[in-house]
Amino acid sequence: MKKVAFYTLGCKLNYSETSTIGRIFQERGFEKVEFTDSPDIYVINTCSVTDNADKKCRKIVKEALKHSPNAFITIVGCYAQLKPKEISEIPGVDAVLGAAEKFQLVDILETFEKKDKAEIYASPISEANTFYNSYSFGDRTRTFLKVQDGCDYSCSFCTIPLARGNSRSDSIDNVVRSAGEIAESGVKEIVLTGVNTGDFGIQDGKRVETFFELVKELDKVEGIDRFRISSIEPNLLKDEIISFVAQSNRFMPHFHVPLQSGSNKVLKLMRRRYQRELYADRVATIKQLMPHCCIGVDVIVGFPGETEEDFLETYNFLNELDVSYLHVFPYSERENTLAPEMPDKVTNKDRNRRADMLRILSEKKKRNFYEQNIGHEFNVLFEDDVKDGLMEGWTENYVRVVAKYDPVLVNETRHVRLTQLNPAGLMEAEETYQELLKH
Ligand code: SF4
Repeated sequence: MKKVAFYTLGCKLNYSETSTIGRIFQERGFEKVEFTDSPDIYVINTCSVTDNADKKCRKIVKEALKHSPNAFITIVGCYAQLKPKEISEIPGVDAVLGAAEKFQLVDILETFEKKDKAEIYASPISEANTFYNSYSFGDRTRTFLKVQDGCDYSCSFCTIPLARGNSRSDSIDNVVRSAGEIAESGVKEIVLTGVNTGDFGIQDGKRVETFFELVKELDKVEGIDRFRISSIEPNLLKDEIISFVAQSNRFMPHFHVPLQSGSNKVLKLMRRRYQRELYADRVATIKQLMPHCCIGVDVIVGFPGETEEDFLETYNFLNELDVSYLHVFPYSERENTLAPEMPDKVTNKDRNRRADMLRILSEKKKRNFYEQNIGHEFNVLFEDDVKDGLMEGWTENYVRVVAKYDPVLVNETRHVRLTQLNPAGLMEAEETYQELLKH
């Protein structure tokens, strides 16, 4: 039995896809092993969004060869789609597969026999138009379920449409079936993932379903306690979705909504499909219906043309907005996108300084959000990681709670009252013996 090991770079989508490729290998009689267990085959799933994708890929190949010098090394993922030739020249790489080929890896490579030169199987991205269903099984508590892939938007900083192709989705029936399978395995929480998740519903280039319809159907799936929406564009986060989540027992009061900039001028340069007023309105609607809802925000700083005044506009906008945490990214150039050609570049020093300012703001926001929840009661789903005798769990609204490790609590939900923040900034709680409530 040949042994195969995996390494994933990048986002939740990549993790769910690596898991699926892993299951395909297992169904074909391969044994899935750890990276260090001298596998016969390595599959490295790459990302094009992370900085130094090339450097990281080389490093992992080198590490892999240290553990298994004769292993067959396969590279898949966004970076493989964008730069197949460069990757094929990395010493030790045996095969590179693009977006349309990665799920056929076992059929394409069949014998996994090493050749003199690396083989490339990467069709143009226009051919990546099939949707492959994927979900991860990282731990017993939570699964990332891919419902949508690709993106039809053309944000001027983003390379993802080139690496993943047009927007396409699974059908609602299939997603519901996958959720049922996941529930049978004992997993309690599903995170719905996609490149542009809110754009769910396009099949063969035509819109046949909507994300809201998907949410309503998933809400009926027995056995899954919690659904989270990994990220949704503000222009696609409609009132009907917010209202539905507010009254649902299964969809958690937690949204992650990319803002990218709080300056309308910069939003336009970025080719985003909304202005800051719409974003503020989304946040206000959420908070009106769910005062304890957690709202996470993605922001890019140092985009070409962003002056100090524009940045301060973003800073002040976020400072006043009732959001819970920020994911901050200093702008970084991506080949074949429009932004690198734009005038008035921001120096790296300023990009990093602005990012640091927003990261400090994020810490303040998070602490403030946690403090707002002290004294309130929530349900905590405990996970199975143990560190220094402590375990962690999450409330419905994504407050991380610590507790003394108790094996009985793993993958169980407990009703608690949040009591205080400990010196490490983690929430402590006391159990309340009431029926599970919905917040
Ligand atoms: S919405 Fe914009 S940033 Fe997001 S994947 Fe599509 S093009 Fe990229």
